[in-house]
Amino acid sequence: MLPQLNGKSYPKEVCLNGIWQKPEEAKISVFDRGFMLGDSLYEVIPFYDGKVFALKEHLSRLKYCLQEISLDFDVEMLIPYIEDSVRRSDNAGKDAAVYLQVSRGAAPRSHFFPERSEPIFLLYSFPVNLSGFENKHWKLLISEDIRWHRCDIKTTSYLANTMLNDKSYKLGLNETLLVKEGMITEGSHSTAFFVKDKIIFTHPEGHQILSGITRKIVLDLCQNLGLEIREEAFPFSEIENADEVFLTGTTTQIMAISEIQFQDNILFQAVESGPITRKLQEAFIQKTRNP
Ligand code: PMP
Repeated sequence: MLPQLNGKSYPKEVCLNGIWQKPEEAKISVFDRGFMLGDSLYEVIPFYDGKVFALKEHLSRLKYCLQEISLDFDVEMLIPYIEDSVRRSDNAGKDAAVYLQVSRGAAPRSHFFPERSEPIFLLYSFPVNLSGFENKHWKLLISEDIRWHRCDIKTTSYLANTMLNDKSYKLGLNETLLVKEGMITEGSHSTAFFVKDKIIFTHPEGHQILSGITRKIVLDLCQNLGLEIREEAFPFSEIENADEVFLTGTTTQIMAISEIQFQDNILFQAVESGPITRKLQEAFIQKTRNP
């Protein structure tokens, strides 16, 4: 049995190319392009009370990313494995998530895509507590967005994201908010929303952000609730004037922000979740628990 690290544990079993095995027995080639070049994609798919949520949306984003990197892979064949991964783990019937990765596979190392390679897929389920997020809040650090120009591709090459996230982790904060040319793009692993004068702002889709599935769900909720939303980047200089800030993500869900730090200054502070954040959190709980 593999040990725990930082309170996180390894799953009992992983599914590598359709074969369930112990993680210590699962093997990939040292020439796997995901390992060597970061030539691979991933998704995290949530299960509420054992039921998969927004599977179609996650698979369609994976399909888009596969097309963008010219990788031929049938995402539909993953569905039974995704469902099985929760059923055959200790997470059956509970809140959980499935981590899923598709790599181009092994080939002699080259900078161009090889003509032929056998893509490999890996997936496993892990427990995650998806309840009570509405009673929590996060504190953020602001940092320059040092990532590449295709943040819409959900690649496993998350070195820049992890470098950025580690900065807030080291300060005892929860997430790093990224600024590019004076505008907030998103978090290192989350989508950012700002509320000012009852209008909600979030960065438009495109190459500068990941098109978050939770982002889309929140946009739909805003429409249903009659809340005004603008897909416009929020300026860094306006953070001090924001009324509410929240982040979204598959496991983050809708997280209220209580503090934003930049260098040694506190730019934003809130004692409790704002009314618009609360409204969206309530609607989100309703949607995810009673689909
Ligand atoms: N942006 C980035 C950079 C992320 O890594 C994530 C989570 N993977 C998100 C946004 C949120 O996306 P989703 O709602 O699909 O989890």
